[in-house]
Amino acid sequence: MLIVRGAVKDYDWGIVDGLEPWSGQATGAPQAELWFGVHPGGPSPLVDDGGRPTGELLADHFDIEAIPLLVKLLAAARPLSVQVHPSARAAAEGWRRQSQGEYEGVYSDPFEKTEMLVALQEFEAFAGWRSPDEAAAMLDALGVDGTVVELVRQGDTLAAIPGLLDAASPARVAQLAAAARAAGLPDEQVTAYATVTDHYPDDPGALITPLLAYLRLAAGEAVYVPAGVPHSYIRGIGLEVMTSSDNVLRLGLTGKPVFVDHALRALSTTLEPQVMHTDHGDLIWPRNAPFVVRVLTTGGERIPAEAYRIVLLVEGTATVTSEFGEITLRPGTAAVISASDPDSFVEADGLVAIIQSTTKQVEFAHERWDVARHEY
Ligand SMILES: [Zn+2]
Repeated sequence: MLIVRGAVKDYDWGIVDGLEPWSGQATGAPQAELWFGVHPGGPSPLVDDGGRPTGELLADHFDIEAIPLLVKLLAAARPLSVQVHPSARAAAEGWRRQSQGEYEGVYSDPFEKTEMLVALQEFEAFAGWRSPDEAAAMLDALGVDGTVVELVRQGDTLAAIPGLLDAASPARVAQLAAAARAAGLPDEQVTAYATVTDHYPDDPGALITPLLAYLRLAAGEAVYVPAGVPHSYIRGIGLEVMTSSDNVLRLGLTGKPVFVDHALRALSTTLEPQVMHTDHGDLIWPRNAPFVVRVLTTGGERIPAEAYRIVLLVEGTATVTSEFGEITLRPGTAAVISASDPDSFVEADGLVAIIQSTTKQVEFAHERWDVARHEY
């Protein structure tokens, strides 16, 4: 069992000092993400029981085979890019061809990125496809060419995307909120589109957002976004759990490079996001997900061996105990427990995220701590 802190990512869409309660430092600059894992894009530093850096990285001890998940705390002040993540096959193939020099800087690693966001506060997102009729109504109101709108209405969304990017202009992007209102969308969505215009007035990718479904998550609710599902997180603070990959294929709302052709190949028109109306304490276990999460506020939980486990303290206090001893977490630190480590017990008073890999057989224990401790 090791203790880590998050590696800070200062992407421009982050909230100024938004992750200070967990990063432990005010920088006066955007703090977008804290990474807990071994991905080379942001390897987590190890800390001792007192929260002091040991000078080592988690990656000095484990590789991606042992740490198959990447966990993040995310603070979004404004919309993140419209993006899609590649499937295992697409990522492996894309990485191979990139290694042969066919293109550069598209793929970050050869792995699938499948992710879930658990809202820690109210969280807004675009995820998955909007109904064809609603999307077409909004594009009609924007004055987009009838043949492109017809493709959308027929459900041929991917074929419509190049035409939408061509049709984008600052004048059209400025009309997004008005078009949302004209299409009869509720006020919260009109406001979301106004936010897109405010932050990305010149970005052609803004014309993709009418294709995307809108979601508002309350604290404790979650959305699972499999590889292939388009999304753009709009605003809020959340916990993100994903396979250990940084493969992001962007279509817009970004200063980073967009790779429309790669994104079009990665997009699925059949997969959908799974929205889970859970509350703190519920087990969050999306269908076919490679991980399971429980956000515990009080009490205890046994987390059995034979799967990778990471326990991240968000608020308050938590202790993690195994036959090797006991550690006390501070907010923003996480206990990393490898599959070969023994059963462990978490006791929380605050908010603690317990994340387990499901790539191996996992037995889920639902005992409360007093029962578990008795057994232990
Ligand atoms: Zn994503």
